[in-house]
Amino acid sequence: MKLDIVPLSKWIPNLKKPLVIAGPCSAETEDQVMTTAIELKKNDDVRIFRAGIWKPRTRPNTFEGVGEEGLKWMAQAKKETGLLTTTEVATAAHAELALKYGIDILWIGARTTANPFSVQEIADVLKGTNIPVLVKNPINADLALWLGAIERIAGAGIKKIGAIHRGFSSYEKTQYRNNPIWKIPIELKRMLPDLPMICDPSHIAGVRDLVGSICQKAMDVDMEGLMIETHMSPNDAWSDAAQQVTPDSLKEILSSLSLRTEFSSDRNFEAQLDELRAKIDRIDQELIDSLSMRLKIVEEIGKAKAANNVTPLQLQRMGALMEKRLSQGQSAGLNAEYIKELFDTIHEESVRIQTELMNVQNLKD
Ligand code: PEP
Ligand code: MN
Repeated sequence: MKLDIVPLSKWIPNLKKPLVIAGPCSAETEDQVMTTAIELKKNDDVRIFRAGIWKPRTRPNTFEGVGEEGLKWMAQAKKETGLLTTTEVATAAHAELALKYGIDILWIGARTTANPFSVQEIADVLKGTNIPVLVKNPINADLALWLGAIERIAGAGIKKIGAIHRGFSSYEKTQYRNNPIWKIPIELKRMLPDLPMICDPSHIAGVRDLVGSICQKAMDVDMEGLMIETHMSPNDAWSDAAQQVTPDSLKEILSSLSLRTEFSSDRNFEAQLDELRAKIDRIDQELIDSLSMRLKIVEEIGKAKAANNVTPLQLQRMGALMEKRLSQGQSAGLNAEYIKELFDTIHEESVRIQTELMNVQNLKD
């Protein structure tokens, strides 16, 4: 499906990179919403005020948001500061209310993106409006589910669509609350180059000390914006206390970012880049030649195995091979995980080819 997506610059006047969305995880009280919005307005980098009104919580009996009442506070914050406002909608009723109170931009939360029925119900409510919608990645690392939610919103005729990368749940404990798996948003951007990609470092980090470095990484992979949870007194926040930053630290984080561009106007630099890329092209060709040579040998081994009734998959050999490659990789200064993934793929293909040869042999028998 080719999506018709309006560039961010057409929905945010005087857009500057990165587009910054800031505000508390949750709207808590009228005073908290107003004070935070007024404080954030003093920072010229902040363009959009966020606050969750309905909070999908993992466990019951925790704060689930103030509900409709909070929408009035958001409308008031918008009126006083001129900031655009955004909130999460998880049901058709939320979407209707958010539209009624003049919220400028809606976002679909990670748990909702994972549920196509809910996304479709929201999309149906949005038909005929031109409200911008930001779609967070689903909590599980499933690119198709993320893409599907975006397609459902686009299917309702919405053209101002963006994506928010907030990381993915994993059973294993990592240093992050949600594993960023950068290759997933990068792949989505490759599939939909016009789709604005905004990083939510707060939900990736889970703790405020990591927020700055994730923002930098998002800039390094050329994301267009940042959504950063900001609270006047983070430790007292009613939800996600550990990951929220103060408006002052938000300022510090933003001012310490190094912004990089995809292209440079420096001709020397471009020439140097061309030369290095030509080298990479040559090395990649060599890699392909080596893989093809390797394949021929794998086929020879496969035929010999088939003739001698030996299984294509020999776990012991596989273990020994991986150990050797890991140690060779280590001596060459290559990351162990990278080498493991690479040789797993190479080995998987060898087993596939040899299994095919075995089947051909079986047919002959
Ligand atoms: C949030 O932004 O506060 C939120 C609930 O995010 P997510 O849907 O990414 O968990
Ligand atoms: Mn939150």
